[in-house]
Amino acid sequence: MKNKIIGGILGILGLVFTSIGVINLKDSLPKSKTKQYRNRSLKRPLYITYHHTASEGQTINQIAKGHLGRGFPEIGYCFAIGWDGKIYQLNDINEVTWHDSGHNTNSIGIVFVGNYHEKELPEAALRSAKRLQDSLSTYLNIIGVRYHRQTSPTACPGKYAIKKIQPLLR
Ligand SMILES: [Zn+2]
Repeated sequence: MKNKIIGGILGILGLVFTSIGVINLKDSLPKSKTKQYRNRSLKRPLYITYHHTASEGQTINQIAKGHLGRGFPEIGYCFAIGWDGKIYQLNDINEVTWHDSGHNTNSIGIVFVGNYHEKELPEAALRSAKRLQDSLSTYLNIIGVRYHRQTSPTACPGKYAIKKIQPLLR
């Protein structure tokens, strides 16, 4: 029964993501052969946590390989947003991915691709973040939206992204 309900929400969200143009990379990124993220109930209260990759010119695939090299089961984020506003799904939302140590069980990690400590976050990326966040909030119990620096000693997601995403926070 429980699995049926989770499957239902995941299924509905899958259709919603498709309708807003989310590109599914879940099955095309490198994965660990021995490790897996654990799953969580999607009925639990969840946060959204924003990050940046702090990288320049790296593909999502290369970032995933970097995370595997650090012992992660798969890439650490659930979604990525490109500078051009393209949204990529990297993991299922019921997977407890590793993006914010100590807070992973309760949060969905969304990463802006680029280094937003060095440059402005493009409007297209900001608009896509809002669209994705609105979709997630419609179907899940999202109790807060924050950025990485609010929970950990890090500059992530960079001063320019922090400035731009203020209207999204709650
Ligand atoms: Zn971060």
